[in-house]
Amino acid sequence: MKTLNELLRANIRDLKPYSSARNEFHGEASVFLDANENPYKAPYNRYPDPLQWELKKKISRLKDIAPEHIFIGNGSDEAIDLLIRAFCEQGIDNIVSITPSYGMYQVSADVNNVPCRKVKLSNNYQLSADALLDTVDEHTKIVFLCSPNNPSGNLLDKVEIYKVLKYFPCIVVVDEAYIDFASSPSFIQELLSHPNLVVLQTLSKAWGAAGIRLGMAFASEEIIAVLNKIKYPYNVGQPTQEYALKVLDNAAQMKEQVKEILAERSKVAIALRDIPSVKHIYPSDANFILVKFEDANATYQYLIEKKVVVRNRNSITLCEGCIRITIGTPVENQTLLCALKEMQS
Ligand SMILES: *Cc1c(COP(=O)(O)O)cnc(C)c1O
Repeated sequence: MKTLNELLRANIRDLKPYSSARNEFHGEASVFLDANENPYKAPYNRYPDPLQWELKKKISRLKDIAPEHIFIGNGSDEAIDLLIRAFCEQGIDNIVSITPSYGMYQVSADVNNVPCRKVKLSNNYQLSADALLDTVDEHTKIVFLCSPNNPSGNLLDKVEIYKVLKYFPCIVVVDEAYIDFASSPSFIQELLSHPNLVVLQTLSKAWGAAGIRLGMAFASEEIIAVLNKIKYPYNVGQPTQEYALKVLDNAAQMKEQVKEILAERSKVAIALRDIPSVKHIYPSDANFILVKFEDANATYQYLIEKKVVVRNRNSITLCEGCIRITIGTPVENQTLLCALKEMQS
């Protein structure tokens, strides 16, 4: 891997970050006259911990990785944007992502005016490390992988991911938004042997807390320090930090719900097989299924009329005819299946 100083944009490397009142003060105090807060209306009159240490300690225990390897953001989308801003110089650098995959890599690249090169997955949505490595050039700073992948639902082949980590000399992001639904372990434990790896996870999916906006990036201490240097000083609000602590206290409930969702996923997949307009059901390691229909647009419109909203992926590369269906409660899934059956007759 190139050194971080070689990889970073020069302005970011040389940046002197904003130093907040709560950053500069270390120790015990009972009178806070340092941050121009209103002294009334506790507790939310106070600025939150800018580095979310209590939360990081909890995540550290759950994920078995030191707090210094953890960045917490306003959703994992914040980490995606910060990584591109830290490493990619407009007009010079580029990123590489797979296709089909999560749309935010391209959007964040576009916002930052950085080209996003796409490497097509195979017909069964697998990654070829060789094809990816052929697409990178000397100005490629970040590769974005997503496993389990959205919208295809499958885990990417580990061997191929390791190959990218080994031969790409810059940053490799593995987005694990759906890892809690998968049978395969996280790449977090690979951080210690792969200094170019960044793993993204989120409370938005299995943990059931999309509304609070909390995403996590796991990486080397050096990469995490860069993200902390360029983030907004108070990027995660106090209510979000508090709610996240509560959510993370209940891993058993999360695992129970994941089990139920996976059981429902099997039932939905089996029921879909008996619907004639269904052409293919792709295997899933996530809480959704990608399904190919005879006519995806007509099916999507019909479901909307029935007040059921799914994700039409018909216009996405390699997803022609496909709709992505999130697994809901048993009642919600039945509503979907009944509507699809009615459409037949
Ligand atoms: C849903 C999703 C996320 C989550 O983003 P947040 O900003 O944390 O809500 C990240 N990556 C992928 C691939 C997703 O599907």
